[in-house]
Amino acid sequence: MTIKLLLLTATILFTACSAPSQTTPTMTTHTSNPYYSRTDTTPITIANSEWKKVLPEEVYYIAREQGTERAFTGKYWDFEGLGTYYCAACGNQLFRSDSKFGSGCGWPSFFEPVRKTAVRYIDDNTHGMVRTEVRCGRCDGHLGHVFDDGPPPTGLRFCMNSIVLDFEPDSK
Ligand SMILES: [Zn+2]
Repeated sequence: MTIKLLLLTATILFTACSAPSQTTPTMTTHTSNPYYSRTDTTPITIANSEWKKVLPEEVYYIAREQGTERAFTGKYWDFEGLGTYYCAACGNQLFRSDSKFGSGCGWPSFFEPVRKTAVRYIDDNTHGMVRTEVRCGRCDGHLGHVFDDGPPPTGLRFCMNSIVLDFEPDSK
């Protein structure tokens, strides 16, 4: 961790004068989260007490306490960039922008995950409704719910919370 930080600092120092800033506004840093990986798909089981130390408060609230962001307030509900969406808690690849559609419901909506095991499903009978909860297939974090009123080819609407998604634009 210390070496990584030193390397990062050195890189910033050496490139600050020559390179233009490559920062994308939607990118999030995960330097304090050792469980974050965009390449490791092995499921992980981490206690909530540990997640609480490494996740931003709002990510913890959605991912670990089954929270929901208010409709039309998330950063991706009407976002149309081309790229890939990852789990903001663990880095697991979840959705591609070509499965995203404008559902008008106020949350980012997709008709299919990037691969079958990217997410898992749990029956959710809370709040007097019968729904299917969608969780991250790697870290088991809450992402949102899936409904059967989506468009072809699947007819599904994965209604997700922007806060637990990280968007990475396609490189040109
Ligand atoms: Zn995850």
